[in-house]
Amino acid sequence: MTNTTSAVEADLYMPSDLPPQPGMDERGFWAFCAQKQLKFQRCGACGRHRHPPVPLCPVCQSDHLEWTEAPARATVYTYTIVHHAPHPSLLQRVPYNVAVLSFAGLDDVRLISNVVDVSAIDMAIGLEVELVWQGPVAGYWLPRFRRVGSTVSSTGSAS
Ligand SMILES: [Zn+2]
Repeated sequence: MTNTTSAVEADLYMPSDLPPQPGMDERGFWAFCAQKQLKFQRCGACGRHRHPPVPLCPVCQSDHLEWTEAPARATVYTYTIVHHAPHPSLLQRVPYNVAVLSFAGLDDVRLISNVVDVSAIDMAIGLEVELVWQGPVAGYWLPRFRRVGSTVSSTGSAS
C-alpha cells in the first residue's frame, strides 16, 4: 500500500465508497461516532434508551433527550449473511454478515452493524461481541464489532 486511503480500505470490513449519510435525526449519533464515541439517546423524562435516534420519546413523547455511553459489549440479537452484492462495490465482499445487536440493560436499543472477524458459518445468535472502530470514512469512525477476546484491532489512524 502506498497511501493511507488504500491502507484503510484494505482493513475495512465494508468498502469506503458507501459512507454514512445521516439524516437530521441521526446527525447527533454520527457526530459522536466521528469522535469514536458510541452513544445512544436516553429520554430525559422517563429514562428509556432508544435507537435509532428520534426526536421524541416513543414511550412518553418527551423531547428532552440525553446521550449516554453505550456498553462496550453487545450480543448478536439476529443477523443475516448477504451472498448477493446489492451494490457493485460489494462484489468482492460477499458473503458478509449484517448483524442486529442488543445491549445488556438497554432493552429498546438495537444497532445494525457488522461482526468483522466471524465467517458466515461461525456467525450465531447470542454471540458475545465487543466494539471496534473502523475508518475513518468521510470523517466518520464506523462502529463495528468483533468476538469478545478477538485480536482484531481498530483500523485507521486518529489523524
Ligand atoms: Zn420518555
